[in-house]
Amino acid sequence: MTEKRETSKGFTKTESGKRLTRMLTDDYMNLHRGAGEGAFVVWVAIIVPVEIFRGFDNVVFAVPESHAALSAAKGVGMLQCEKAESSGYSMDICSYARIDIGTAMSGGKDSPTFGLPRPHLLVSNNNNCSLLVKWFDVYHREWSVPHFIIDVPFCYERQKDRDRAYIVAQYRDLIRTIEAMTGQKWDAGRTREAVHNSSEAARQYKRFIDCAVSRPSGITAFDSFVQMAPLLTSRGSPELASHFRMLADETEVRMKSGLFPVPGERYRLFWDNIAPWHQLRKMSTRLADLDANIIAASYTSCVGSVEGSYEFLQDYDDGDPLEALARMQNFSVCPYGMELRFEAMSWAARHYGIDGFVFASNRSCKVYSIMQMDLQKRVAGTLGIPSVMIDVDHADVRKYSEENAFVRMEALLESIDAVRSRKGA
Ligand code: SF4
Repeated sequence: MTEKRETSKGFTKTESGKRLTRMLTDDYMNLHRGAGEGAFVVWVAIIVPVEIFRGFDNVVFAVPESHAALSAAKGVGMLQCEKAESSGYSMDICSYARIDIGTAMSGGKDSPTFGLPRPHLLVSNNNNCSLLVKWFDVYHREWSVPHFIIDVPFCYERQKDRDRAYIVAQYRDLIRTIEAMTGQKWDAGRTREAVHNSSEAARQYKRFIDCAVSRPSGITAFDSFVQMAPLLTSRGSPELASHFRMLADETEVRMKSGLFPVPGERYRLFWDNIAPWHQLRKMSTRLADLDANIIAASYTSCVGSVEGSYEFLQDYDDGDPLEALARMQNFSVCPYGMELRFEAMSWAARHYGIDGFVFASNRSCKVYSIMQMDLQKRVAGTLGIPSVMIDVDHADVRKYSEENAFVRMEALLESIDAVRSRKGA
């Protein structure tokens, strides 16, 4: 393998990273091209199963949250937020929503993807947060675009059969709605094929994020955050599975060659919340200088995982594709009760050998953050693992202080040392 690497400590630009850039460029170009040639355009929330749309001849989808994350990572998050704020939207609203509204209201100006083509249908769900429904309602009002809302029951335990049936009934409603709006006929076989592709992609993505099990870890969570983008834009396609297969293969080869992002790794950390998109390189590099690595995160399992765990749906057996998709509606963070979140975190602590937790209290995503104080107490009391709470905003850099965050993260590393010396390790 003749892989060319561009490396700075803690952050690696690999062949997979370059392939990822090409894939995302293609996804957004195909979206714009399809819309320009008359395809039916749907805007979706991240958990809406886009495999359903792949069952139609000429339906394309856009994911505003993913576009907002990309905008923040490319450094234009604040600019787009300010546009929304100048139109009267409060700074307290989720920064994804502000970036998206700022982008849409300025006709895609300053967007890394020239914005998103205007939708014919909006599809959201209430299992992330109610803000998301209100955010999509802005376009429903401003542009008179129909808004289909999937109602997903909150999950305190394993998903119940009756809840799954309730979700599937809404999927059928969504299919009928698109058939009526487009005149196209849904093909269940094509959606089944897309679910197979997603299931295989999940299996390969899991291989990749499990490179964190090794000591030192073969990846940083920042690598896996970056690789989440096509989980949203290419979901259900065969290209996604093959990209993740090559990604996992390349990562394993690097590890066998002794190449690790933090070779002197002394602290293995776990991140709880959405990625700090505006800080990926800065935070990973500065942590690496402290021989610390955030190796895994709850966020990387938020798309495609099944209820009750950070595990993905990797075992699709050719059954009813809508049933399989409904299992993934209750993913492992926001729409989850305390017990399941703690259970999933305890599993991660054992599986990855975590020394400390970083709870990122997110000014934008209150639903993700609200249980963190209780989780922090349980992580300390039950697992005996030190943790720290830092203030972030996933996409609005104005609500993040690097120095404040690092003062606390350095204190966490000292706590880990103290635990080790108590144990005589
Ligand atoms: S508040 Fe959280 S769950 Fe809701 S849209 Fe923003 S990031 Fe997503």
